[in-house]
Amino acid sequence: MTTSSPVPDAVPAAVPSVAPPAAAAVVPEAPAPPTMRDVLAAARRIDGLVVRTPALAHPELDRAVAHAGADGASLVVKHENLQHTGAFKVRGALNLLLGFDEAERRRGIVAYSTGNHAQALAHAGRRTGTACTIVMPHHPNPVKERAVRDLGADVLLHGETFDDARVRAAEVAAATGARLVGAANEPVLVAGVATATLELLQQAPDLDVLVVPVGGGSGAAAACLVAAALAPGLRVVAVQASASPAAHDSWRAGELRTAANATRAEGLAVGCGFALTQQVLRDHLEDFLLVDDDAIAAAQRAYLTGARTVAEGAGAAALAAVLTHPDAFAGRRVGVVCSGGNASEAELRRALG
Ligand SMILES: *Cc1c(COP(=O)(O)O)cnc(C)c1O
Repeated sequence: MTTSSPVPDAVPAAVPSVAPPAAAAVVPEAPAPPTMRDVLAAARRIDGLVVRTPALAHPELDRAVAHAGADGASLVVKHENLQHTGAFKVRGALNLLLGFDEAERRRGIVAYSTGNHAQALAHAGRRTGTACTIVMPHHPNPVKERAVRDLGADVLLHGETFDDARVRAAEVAAATGARLVGAANEPVLVAGVATATLELLQQAPDLDVLVVPVGGGSGAAAACLVAAALAPGLRVVAVQASASPAAHDSWRAGELRTAANATRAEGLAVGCGFALTQQVLRDHLEDFLLVDDDAIAAAQRAYLTGARTVAEGAGAAALAAVLTHPDAFAGRRVGVVCSGGNASEAELRRALG
């Protein structure tokens, strides 16, 4: 994979004289997952532009797990909270944009997000000279809007909900030729994100289990692909917030589901399953756990007080799963993905309160 498909959401200007059956054009096809070659190519492409984040043991976290029950476990935390822009997503964004040719860079990218997806794309856009437009609903969190603007992206405020922003982003893509970049169903992003697991396996080759937080599922799908290829005995366990369980419900049901979407953990606040990531999870995932928002806050507190680590809610969800289901990890060497550190002051106060 050397280039990404340009402008997948552009609408043809004119209807071709021999039109294909209408259904063929609208059935949402899952793009094929990346291969291990794609992951290795991504690692080479983004080398030097991402932080090789530390994978650290934290004795106090091990003690907290032992205290929670069973025989305890020994944890290795993959610190993507220390990644550029404070989350793992920049790995995927850089992999995508570094593969663009000159014309694609000029046409640019457009996305709808207020969170880490937006910051990752803005950061990668600046590093590669790619124009980046982020659509947000009106009245976004001003701190997040500022962060994206400071990274050099254009922010377009539109509508009241994320659906409004999504529709507007698709219109911008169709009108300008900019590449609409979703947060899931994007094989190039998954390949880039998979480099985090590749690093972790080099840093800690003897893990028994790897626990990964899920929103759209790119991070967990990436972990599954790398584990299946390089460490077949390594079990991958996904974690979602019980207030936003769409990926969990989709995996359990074996078909794409929508679900309530009310978690405070923004990186996990997704309301539907996605075909690409679900397909990979169906083939490779060992188990899928749910944690409630209070357990996530308790894990944020454990990171702050026991591991000198600032984790946002999504970043603490994997640890929350180990602390609330200690029996499932008893006596194991457990990789725990701390996926992001972009916690607001209010969020940290609530976790400590
Ligand atoms: C986006 C995000 C997640 C969820 O990742 P998916 O690939 O969408 O499943 C988890 N944690 C953080 C910090 C994130 O930004």
